[in-house]
Amino acid sequence: MGNIHRVDILGCPFDAISFADTVEHIREAVKARSHLQIVPGSIDFVVRAKRDKLFAELLWSTELVIADGVPIVWSASLLGTPIRGRVSGTELVWKCAEVSVETGCKVALIGAAPGVAGRAALKMMRRYPGAVVEAIPTPFPLGRNESLEVAARIRTLGAAIVLVALGAPKQERWVKEYLDSCGSNVGIGVGSAFDIISGDKPRAPGWVQTMGMEWFYRTLLEPARLGRRYFIEDSPFLLHLVGAVMRNRLGIRWGRA
Ligand code: UDP
Repeated sequence: MGNIHRVDILGCPFDAISFADTVEHIREAVKARSHLQIVPGSIDFVVRAKRDKLFAELLWSTELVIADGVPIVWSASLLGTPIRGRVSGTELVWKCAEVSVETGCKVALIGAAPGVAGRAALKMMRRYPGAVVEAIPTPFPLGRNESLEVAARIRTLGAAIVLVALGAPKQERWVKEYLDSCGSNVGIGVGSAFDIISGDKPRAPGWVQTMGMEWFYRTLLEPARLGRRYFIEDSPFLLHLVGAVMRNRLGIRWGRA
């Protein structure tokens, strides 16, 4: 598949890869039984990576970090390091069901509120007849012992792909720590994808996504949870971006944070 160009957006890595190539990587990893962690990253990830060095290290050591948000794509262009466009994590979850049909592999879903992953699994199997998608009951809190139990169930199922909805950064850490114990090849932290696929939460219309306003749409639906994240926690992003763009214009090289 050739080398993927990795860019540095304010200290956070993003891979310049298309949606189709990302799916191809999943297919190849399943067939070759190799190890592939994918992180669908957004502005939250950049902000978190700035204040959490361990999380930044995790991202830099992850095989694929995809730009799951139009604002990241715009920021990359502004910084003079364009990436190939948005790769939606939710769309990738659907595609995992297609890969299941094509390769005969199984897909395990963990996390999300009780019942949500099961409903998402049914929707995925309905859209892609022949896919094998199974929700694994996930105890809370998910400590080490519980995680090892969940991993053992996934190993017994024989799932090559594990999709994890525990919220960031828990889901990324979980994949990093337990993918091998699961005996699986591909692990992706998927955020609220199961809530959307199950139909429990609406997806922003396509034009809202294209305008880079999906975050605003979601904030209107969940103001208490997401208002704080987008308007308070993520607000330093804009300052960092403006600073970096100005430094670029003045010819000062931006290094890894
Ligand atoms: N979630 C979970 N356990 C937790 C925290 C979150 O299962 O301790 C699930 C939650 O039910 C939802 C998803 O994780 O399905 C949301 O994750 P995140 O906040 O990262 O999603 P985003 O809003 O960024 O897409």
